[in-house]
Amino acid sequence: QMRALVLTQSEDKKVTATFRGDLSVADLPEGEVLVAVEASSLNYKDGLAVLGRPGVVRKYPMVPGIDLAGSVLESSDVRFRAGDPVLLTGWGVGEGHWGGYASHARVKADWLTHRPQGMDAKKAMALGTAGFTAMLALMALEDHGLTPGMGEVVVTGASGGVGSVAVALLAQAGYTVVASTGRTEEEAYLKGLGAGEVIPRSLLSDLKRPLEKERFAAGIDSAGGSTLAGLLACTRRGGAVAACGLAQSTELYTSVMPFILRGVALLGIDSVMCPPERREAAWARLNRDVPQTLLQQGVHEHPLSEIQALAEQILAGQVRGRTVIVP
Ligand code: NAP
Repeated sequence: QMRALVLTQSEDKKVTATFRGDLSVADLPEGEVLVAVEASSLNYKDGLAVLGRPGVVRKYPMVPGIDLAGSVLESSDVRFRAGDPVLLTGWGVGEGHWGGYASHARVKADWLTHRPQGMDAKKAMALGTAGFTAMLALMALEDHGLTPGMGEVVVTGASGGVGSVAVALLAQAGYTVVASTGRTEEEAYLKGLGAGEVIPRSLLSDLKRPLEKERFAAGIDSAGGSTLAGLLACTRRGGAVAACGLAQSTELYTSVMPFILRGVALLGIDSVMCPPERREAAWARLNRDVPQTLLQQGVHEHPLSEIQALAEQILAGQVRGRTVIVP
């Protein structure tokens, strides 16, 4: 017996979400490892999937939930044994393969990561894809040469999932963090996470010139659109911007000027297909470095039964930090 949120699509393409308690693990798709799901999470992409927006779910019926954490029940792969604590983010789970909004999941062993020692399922999901992506962005900037002495690092969409974790991780690592947000009422929250300054979203998104006054040594962007364009225009010589998201827009109208006159680098971050070695490194560092303040102030827990309302909230940009979903 298992519980799951199942998305189905009618002939006129309308997507319906139904809570099902009458399924069994025999209904799960193929995979080497059966996992008892203890927690999942809410990402922007989950909001799109649950509300039937195009571009995320590739086939129906689908159990959404791009993240899951729990323990192994059965495994035919030598890398995993019954009882092992595991987590999974990305790989198209919750999009093309049944995901984490269920009591059980059957998945490919290649997609699973052993949970770091001491990281329980809820902490793993307090981070989830968003937290993992924030860490990949920080690692990409550091690989490019960023160190804390170099100047301000700006985080856009700072009150959201990727943004909150990015602010907290950067501050913890000693960077001077500027948080860009459309919710200036979250100033105290963002400063509590370690932001030195909070700026309104419009400061970047309203910039129009190909090059602006140099300000930021680096940036972590969840917005895309004119926010990313503005950020590129005021990134300092030799700096870099990690592009993570599209909360504002998938479009990017910019010029080559920041690249060819200031040597600015635009680093793309893909958490979904990130290779296993990099995943393990990122999760180990998350386990070590994520500050307690983020987990206490930036994380909320909700039962799966509330998913519809939560999906609407995240697409409206109203969710603060991260949301753990308990199936
Ligand atoms: P989220 O919690 O909803 O955070 C997004 C934040 O962006 C919002 O909280 C809001 O923050 C800001 N925002 C919303 N609408 C905006 C607008 N019109 N213009 C500018 N900023 C706006 O979502 P998330 O789960 O952190 O994901 C953030 C983005 O990254 C999404 O686009 C998601 O698809 C993407 N993502 C990509 C990867 C990857 O592998 N590349 C992984 C995870 C997520 P403020 O109110 O503070 O401004």
